[in-house]
Amino acid sequence: MQQVAAPADALGRSLSDLRISVIDRCNFRCPYCMPEDQYASDHAFLRARERLSFDEIERLARIFVALGVRKLRLTGGEPLLRRDLPELVSRLARIEGVEDLALTTNGVLLPRLAQALRGAGLHRITLSLDSLDAETYRRMAGGRGEVGQVLEAVDAAERAGFAGLKINCVVLRGVNEDDVLDLVKRFRGTPHVLRFIEYMDVGTLNGWRAERVVPSGELRARIHARWPLEPLPRRLESDTARRWRFADGAGEVGFISSVSEPFCGDCTRARLSADGKLYTCLFARNGHDLRAPLRAGDSDDALRARVAGIWSLRGDRYSERRAELRAAGVLEHVEMYRVGG
Ligand code: SAM
Repeated sequence: MQQVAAPADALGRSLSDLRISVIDRCNFRCPYCMPEDQYASDHAFLRARERLSFDEIERLARIFVALGVRKLRLTGGEPLLRRDLPELVSRLARIEGVEDLALTTNGVLLPRLAQALRGAGLHRITLSLDSLDAETYRRMAGGRGEVGQVLEAVDAAERAGFAGLKINCVVLRGVNEDDVLDLVKRFRGTPHVLRFIEYMDVGTLNGWRAERVVPSGELRARIHARWPLEPLPRRLESDTARRWRFADGAGEVGFISSVSEPFCGDCTRARLSADGKLYTCLFARNGHDLRAPLRAGDSDDALRARVAGIWSLRGDRYSERRAELRAAGVLEHVEMYRVGG
């Protein structure tokens, strides 16, 4: 396929990352993402024929790579719920030009799948773990899963040969903010990197309130008081996390601070939902349907031109304008379980 980088967007940002949500279902009901009381047991998740097939995902991924994407991340919902995921991984890993192929998961199903995912060519895994305390963990996961399962997932990933994991922890004021030091203690001195994520107003159903956000600066000060930290330079401009290393050499931690220190200016990420909608911002309300033209028989060239056209018009910078937009009543965003993190 012809390789022609997508034009920069309206704010001069290139397109280099694609997050692919492979399923909108999840086996957790984290209150900050998919609160149980908002999803009745008969909630209409996508049916199999509504989801992009592996052929369709691969085809779109090739088109995005031809436009300059170098990093792919599989997410969800819970991506490990998608049947035969290793097969999709092996197809994506073979696309020339893909330099980084990663997966974000809550880890519960990882012990069964880690080896197959590694064999299929997955490069990296990010695990979600909000607390080491059994009760707080279950509260953060909406009463599903056990901390022990995530720790087993860490072991399984290590055994399968995934070198350094990223471990995401969303911090909610009054819920798990006091668990941060225990998490740091557990992963300091290991090859794994904890990343603390500010609670974001993604979606609408979580009833986000600014008071529940714990600013990264506050967490950093707490950690620094116990284990002094020093800032590290960013590896790539588009990295979401700001990195800090332990002064004693015991590794690093990251902070993803979309609320207190927005990073829209460096955002090179596009997101594809499981039903084939392209979102140009995590906080967008609507996506651009790629499934319809795909299924209507559009050629690769036509699809590539469509994506390039959408990207060239992109002017999103929600996080930088959060206060102003919320005050103006812009409160509706796509749900996180539809587009992934
Ligand atoms: N199910 C997988 C998992 O748990 O990692 C992948 C999808 S999940 C939506 C991806 C990441 O988004 C998780 O690390 C989760 O904690 C984070 N997340 C979800 N809702 C969030 C919110 N409102 N604010 C910040 N992070 C959030």
